[in-house]
Amino acid sequence: MRILVAEDDASLADGLRHSLRHAGHAVDLVMTGAEADSAVASNEFDLLILDLGLPKMSGLEVLRRLRARQSRLPVLILTAKDGVDDRVRGLDLGADDYLVKPFVLAELEARVRALARRGQSDSAVLSHGSLSYDTVGMVASIEGEVVELSARELALLKILLERAGRMVSKEHLVDHVCEWGEEVSTNAIEVYIHRLRKKLERGGVKIVTIRGLGYCLERPRVN
Ligand code: CA
Repeated sequence: MRILVAEDDASLADGLRHSLRHAGHAVDLVMTGAEADSAVASNEFDLLILDLGLPKMSGLEVLRRLRARQSRLPVLILTAKDGVDDRVRGLDLGADDYLVKPFVLAELEARVRALARRGQSDSAVLSHGSLSYDTVGMVASIEGEVVELSARELALLKILLERAGRMVSKEHLVDHVCEWGEEVSTNAIEVYIHRLRKKLERGGVKIVTIRGLGYCLERPRVN
């Protein structure tokens, strides 16, 4: 997933970024509410982690404006221990979940996984013919045998699996697996897909190129 973290405490923001990257996500950071507001208005994120106490526009105002634009972007708010009123207001304004500071990173990661699963299948395991992908353990396997994939290959595979049988554009892949300032071209995506294809071919997994547009993970044949 591509995640925007809006947090003005630099050390907490760094910790969040490190931990979420480790879990295979692309993470962008902003430190003010105004930056968060313009970032979510002009980029495709899959999740916003939003501190409510931000300078230059409160987190609540960022959230209010986001929902006023009819955005359904999942939002996890971070609140202070004594911020019961903020928490309630945040949930009323359309936050999907909250965490009270200080929290342990393992809990944040679990909440992020739960939000990522929302609106998709309830299972943490995505199956596709002989291939299965455990989104919690971040392990892909073919007939029970683990396939060694890089974090980025796993991120691409997850997107393709969630949209199996449908075309996914290269731009969409770039937007959802890359961070700001990362020089990842659509050509680089071709390279990742090429590697992924090689690693998965023994399982009969077919990633079809739709010339000039993108890719489609072919639905498995049912025998
Ligand atoms: Ca703060």
